[in-house]
Amino acid sequence: MSALLEVSGISVTFDGFRAINNLSFEIGPAELRAVIGPNGAGKTTFMDIVTGKTRPDSGKVLFGERSVNLLGMTEAQIARAGVGRKFQRPTVFEDQSVAENLMMALKADRGPFAVLRWRPRPEHHARVAELASEVGLADHLPRKAGELSHGQKQWLEIGMLLAQEPRLLLVDEPAAGMTLAEREHTTRLLVDLAKTRAVVVVEHDMDFVRRLACKVTVLHEGAVLAEGSLDHVTRNPAVIEVYLGR
Ligand code: ADP
Repeated sequence: MSALLEVSGISVTFDGFRAINNLSFEIGPAELRAVIGPNGAGKTTFMDIVTGKTRPDSGKVLFGERSVNLLGMTEAQIARAGVGRKFQRPTVFEDQSVAENLMMALKADRGPFAVLRWRPRPEHHARVAELASEVGLADHLPRKAGELSHGQKQWLEIGMLLAQEPRLLLVDEPAAGMTLAEREHTTRLLVDLAKTRAVVVVEHDMDFVRRLACKVTVLHEGAVLAEGSLDHVTRNPAVIEVYLGR
C-alpha cells in the first residue's frame, strides 16, 4: 500500500542549529503511529513542517494519492488538503454547548467567504450528532463545553477537527493530564480513528504508547533513530542510550 504522507530528506536549521536533520518518514492511509523521542528530538518541529507552520530548508512532504507537495502551501491550504492538528491544550469555546462547538467547526470548514452566509441545515445537525457520537460525547450535546472534564474537552476538540474530514490527524500528547478512564477512552478513540485515516500521536508517556499497540518511530537529533513495535525499539541499544545514557 502506498503512503498517505511521505516526508523525505527534510532538514531545518534554526540559527545554525539543525533541529531536523535529513528526516524521512512515511505513514499509510489507515495507520496509527506513535512518535517518541527525548526533549528536543524534533517532534514538534516535524509536526510544524507537515502543517506548514515551519518551512524546511530542503526535502519534500508529499501527501495523498496524487502526491501533492505540501511545502509551499499555507497552513490553511494544508488543513483544507486534509491535515488536522490537535495541540496539547484543548481550545474549545467554553461558553458554547458541545453541539454549538461542533457546529462552529462545521461552519469554519466552509472557508472564510462562505461562513458569512452559512446557515445550519438539517444535515448539519445530523453531522453534529454523528461527530459527537464518534468521539463519545453523544450524551453531552447540550452541555456547555466549560462544564466538561479535561478529557471530554480533548475529545470535543478531536470531534471539531473531524468536521474538516482530515485524512491525516496529528495529535500532540493526548494522554497528558487525563484520568485512567479517560486515557482508556482516548486509546480506543485513536485506534478507531486510525481505521479510516492516518493518525500520528506524539507522546512522552510510554505506558500510553504501549496501550496504542502501534508502530513507533523514535526521533533523536532531528532524525529517525529506530522504528518498529515499542518492545522492538526499547530493546534497541541506541534508543536505550538516548533515553538512559546521559
Ligand atoms: P521536541 O518537540 O522533540 O521536544 P522540538 O521540535 O521542539 O523538539 O525542538 C527541536 C530542537 O529545535 C530543540 O533543540 C529546540 O530548542 C530547537 N528549536 C525548535 N524551535 C526553534 C526555534 N523556533 N528557534 C530556535 N530553535 C528552535
